[in-house]
Amino acid sequence: MNKIKIAELFYSIQGEGRFMGVPSIFLRTYGCNFKCAGFGMPKGEVSKEADNIAEKVHRYSNYNELPLVSTGCDSYASWHPSFKDLSPMLTVDAIADRMEEILPYNKWGDVHLVITGGEPLLGWQRAYPELLNHPKLKDLKDITFETNGTQTITQEFKRFLKEWTYKNGFHSLTFSVSPKLSVSGERKEDAIKPEVINQYADIGHTYLKFVVASEEDVKEALQIIGKYKDEGFHGHSYFMPVGGVESVYNLNNRRVAELAMKHGVRYSDRLQVPLFKNEWGT
Ligand code: SF4
Repeated sequence: MNKIKIAELFYSIQGEGRFMGVPSIFLRTYGCNFKCAGFGMPKGEVSKEADNIAEKVHRYSNYNELPLVSTGCDSYASWHPSFKDLSPMLTVDAIADRMEEILPYNKWGDVHLVITGGEPLLGWQRAYPELLNHPKLKDLKDITFETNGTQTITQEFKRFLKEWTYKNGFHSLTFSVSPKLSVSGERKEDAIKPEVINQYADIGHTYLKFVVASEEDVKEALQIIGKYKDEGFHGHSYFMPVGGVESVYNLNNRRVAELAMKHGVRYSDRLQVPLFKNEWGT
């Protein structure tokens, strides 16, 4: 049986993108190909918050005890090597059992599954077919992969997803792609991959979600949207305010909403911040 290294598995409300407000199970896999240490930092500088917490990792026995950060990646423990022991390697059976336990009335009903990270389309692709075919997931209708848009899908997984989507005629598959702008600290040539997005768009509903804070970020996002369009992608785009903690989110949300209106781009909130303070497990 396949196993997946799980950073978090919890039930909450989707706070971002197309399914904002929809009750959702979040499966956060461990591992990412980026660090995004530039978020919330002056241009050219990198956040040390995650590394500073990592030095005291012995103080923490589970995710809910970990501090929130106001700079860098807000889900740092899902990829930072120092926190790897907080993420158990679980069998597909154990994951399906846990999902059933935390679902309201132990049923999927209208609950959506979000497979997130870290970067969920790294090596775990090989385990997802067994999970999605598990008897305890048979009534699941909607899945979203939240990805940074850099990982291609294997031919085998692509075939599986196409079949899964058409099975019973009602399954929906979404790729919520968050391409990293220079504000993340990642290099454009590593982060912007139109050919990868086109591959997702070929098999599921695919949209772009840019984390922005300023006019400068918006200008860069618009250029990148133009590049994706030139390469044949015509899905929707969203602007979402930077801010994994309330103090930063509150500074940005209204301005980003106004910028989205100004440019005719969709606005995505991050409801987990005002509703639940973006605590781990929300
Ligand atoms: S891609 Fe996402 S999970 Fe990975 S470091 Fe960046 S913000 Fe964090």
